[in-house]
Amino acid sequence: MDPTQAPISPANEGGAPIHVPVLVALPRHSGVEEVLDYLQPAELGPRRLAPGTLVRVPLGRRVVTGLVWQSTTDANRPPVSELRSLAEVLPQLPPLQDAWRSLLQFAAGYYQRAPGELAMAVLPAQLKELDGIQLQRRLKKLDRSLSASNPLPAHAVVQAESADAPPALPALSPQQAQVLEELNRSPSGTCLLHGVTGSGKTEVYLRAAEAALSRGQQVLVLVPEINLTPQLEARFAARFPRQRMVSLHSGLTPPQRLQNWLAAHTGRAELLLGTRMAVFASLPRLGLIVVDEEHDPSYKQQEGARYSARDLAVYRGRLESLPVLLGSATPSLETWLNATPAPAGLGRYQRLAMSQRIGDGALPRVRLLDLERYCAQHGRQALRDKPVAPALLQALRDRLERGEQSLLLLNRRGYAPVLHCPSCGWKSGCPHCSAWRVFHKLDRSLRCHHCGFSERVPLRCPQCGDPDIQPVGRGTERLEEQLSALLPEARIGRIDADTTRTRGSLETQLAAVHEGAVDVLIGTQMVAKGHDFRRMTLVAAVNADSALFSSDFRAPERLFALLMQAAGRAGRDARQAARSEMWIQTWHAAHPLYLALQAHDYEAFARSQLLERRAAGLPPYTCLALLRSEARDQAAALGFLQKAAMQARALLPQGIELQLYPPVPAALQRVANVERAQMLIESPHRAVLQRFLAVWLPRLQEGNAGETRVLRWAVDVDPQSI
Ligand code: ADP
Ligand code: ZN
Ligand code: ZN
Repeated sequence: MDPTQAPISPANEGGAPIHVPVLVALPRHSGVEEVLDYLQPAELGPRRLAPGTLVRVPLGRRVVTGLVWQSTTDANRPPVSELRSLAEVLPQLPPLQDAWRSLLQFAAGYYQRAPGELAMAVLPAQLKELDGIQLQRRLKKLDRSLSASNPLPAHAVVQAESADAPPALPALSPQQAQVLEELNRSPSGTCLLHGVTGSGKTEVYLRAAEAALSRGQQVLVLVPEINLTPQLEARFAARFPRQRMVSLHSGLTPPQRLQNWLAAHTGRAELLLGTRMAVFASLPRLGLIVVDEEHDPSYKQQEGARYSARDLAVYRGRLESLPVLLGSATPSLETWLNATPAPAGLGRYQRLAMSQRIGDGALPRVRLLDLERYCAQHGRQALRDKPVAPALLQALRDRLERGEQSLLLLNRRGYAPVLHCPSCGWKSGCPHCSAWRVFHKLDRSLRCHHCGFSERVPLRCPQCGDPDIQPVGRGTERLEEQLSALLPEARIGRIDADTTRTRGSLETQLAAVHEGAVDVLIGTQMVAKGHDFRRMTLVAAVNADSALFSSDFRAPERLFALLMQAAGRAGRDARQAARSEMWIQTWHAAHPLYLALQAHDYEAFARSQLLERRAAGLPPYTCLALLRSEARDQAAALGFLQKAAMQARALLPQGIELQLYPPVPAALQRVANVERAQMLIESPHRAVLQRFLAVWLPRLQEGNAGETRVLRWAVDVDPQSI
């Protein structure tokens, strides 16, 4: 039967037909209301469907999934004769709760997206494709898979438990105990757990989770990237063998994603571990949110609704009156300001600190390897073609002799970032982007990391025919090659996006490091995060300087976090901690960032950064939004923004504290033959910026309905970089 043609037999509520408001996905400002009225079929009885119920409704010629929404006023309702009936209700599913709908509504408003569009984007794709019967099958399958993962019948588990001793928990460190005590005292609100690497933050998460689980609540744990924190998942699984844990991240197949989402939504799973998308999971008994490595930039979605999962987690905590635990050794400056007591800070979050490593292990000594001074003594030639200075090479040799491991951090993959012809000056630019193509030696390709365009490396200069084209600079591939020549006896491993392309390869390579099959590990930021390498006593950043003078205002914050995190990979075993070191090979040994790092002084770093941010009028002291546009030519992209600025000025009331900056080409101006431009909007007040965007953007949409030269435009609230 074609559901759009279903005969209307409306249900009656005290004689009147029942209207059901349904939220459907329509792009924002498309001119059509997103909450449409439908009639509830008589088969469903006289009770109005609860808000949050998933339904299928006819929309134009299609049948789409929608959500029953809050009842609107009856005033401007279309007459019954014009209404269509719901096509199908998915009654097997409990409705999405009020709190979930409030979160969605808030996120849509804040990030300037349509609620329906956002709802359909954050619900699992398969949920929108399956009909009631298929869904029923999935739920049955879910029950089967859950009982299979726990092979003993419930009573047997209980007996086994009572026979065995309870699982041995590590005795808490004094700082862990103190932090947990304070957490217990504040049953809701946001807490920053500021703990140095190795201070045992995970144990705090586990204990806090245990408390929530014992109250019968669900726990949401957010992580930056799931495959970079395999140990966290394993530790939760080991600690709570009788609880059901599921994950949500982009690596799941659509059926897996639906299955895990259903497990959380129906309350069958108590623990949910996931990446940013998981902040939108439906968790009817949610009792705690943990955001691990809260400073990590990957919590900000970079397309569609550009939400910050960290910020939404804090909002969700407030909405549902539950505790939110933000953990980091190097908190974001936003969080730090919120967790700093007034008057210096905002005093909105509680701040809990753990300054000691477990077992009283020392933090690695940070040594600055001053290349400038080295060259002054030995001449620049002495460093020619050397990936590491002789002193660092010696430090690597010492580790090798003692059977300890080292990590070389180089945040740039490939062999060399650019090829160059010395005779004519040709460089390996990408024909489609304003970027160089990177030389990858393994498959002898020139590859653009922005659009993916790849070609075989030319044998001669494409411009003058000279066969002597040269790699310029160094990526991980070249570092590996050069280091192998210098340390032939060492087993050298490399982990970066190129070596971990195939499924499972990251896990295999990490396992090799943990087993001690690698002496020197070369890697990008992937290896700096989270891993608990027990035999590592030396971490060295080979070319950290490149991030020091970036135009991105968050670059120093990121670099500091990355280096602190990398340093935290060394000396995790307290017995080796005393002789663990972090080396930084640098031309700017007196840079304040490095000096703060050397003193392990996050607070000093944060203080100086905040002063700079305040002086420059940057977040967290101001609120930003970025309007971006994309077009085939730059003039069109800029033209759109100029028009938008004119429209905005006309709307701006006198004396409003909001500033529009002139439109400019984006830092990376062209990607895949698309020209990009942007315009910054800034206000010291979040509410002012929000109100303005809410008025301006719909006008912009109307004003550009027929515009064809602009391919795309969108606003990014709280952009990561400008
Ligand atoms: P962080 O996340 O703060 O860097 P981890 O949670 O990874 O630190 O803890 C570092 C190491 O210390 C881990 O190997 C962990 O198992 C161990 N650990 C944590 N808490 C304790 C404790 N109370 N007693 C013994 N070992 C602990
Ligand atoms: Zn040439
Ligand atoms: Zn390109």
